[in-house]
Amino acid sequence: MSVPKYTSDFLAKRFLNSNRNHIRKSLPLKDPRQQKARDYQKKILMKKAKTFLPYRLEYFAKLYGYSYEKCRLSHANTRWGSCSSNRTISLNIGLMNVPAPLRDYVILHELAHLNHMDHSKAFWAEVGSHDKLYKTHEKKLKHFSPGI
Ligand SMILES: [Zn+2]
Repeated sequence: MSVPKYTSDFLAKRFLNSNRNHIRKSLPLKDPRQQKARDYQKKILMKKAKTFLPYRLEYFAKLYGYSYEKCRLSHANTRWGSCSSNRTISLNIGLMNVPAPLRDYVILHELAHLNHMDHSKAFWAEVGSHDKLYKTHEKKLKHFSPGI
């Protein structure tokens, strides 16, 4: 793990502690059987996500008048979603394992990035106009990890 120069040991340790779960999850497993089970889990989740996430994204885009280029499904260990400057929205298949309101929040968050490529006040105002409870959802999401 690399930390920026200005980060104290204390902060680095706190980060490690609070992210232990997903750091552990992102390390390769030594036991091949365990690795196989994880690969299988991922496959099942990908199947589930394919039949849901792109349609949920499309639904909200239509509802609120957004247009995006492409929807990508990812299984990165660190992020729930992203929005690139070429208007591709990536959604983590791990979203299938979080409660629906949190999942919807991530989708609305990424859609709002189509208009604001930052986390400015204007960005949050836009998220808030679609999801009044976005602050709660953002907080609750921290209890889950995108890794499998
Ligand atoms: Zn964001």
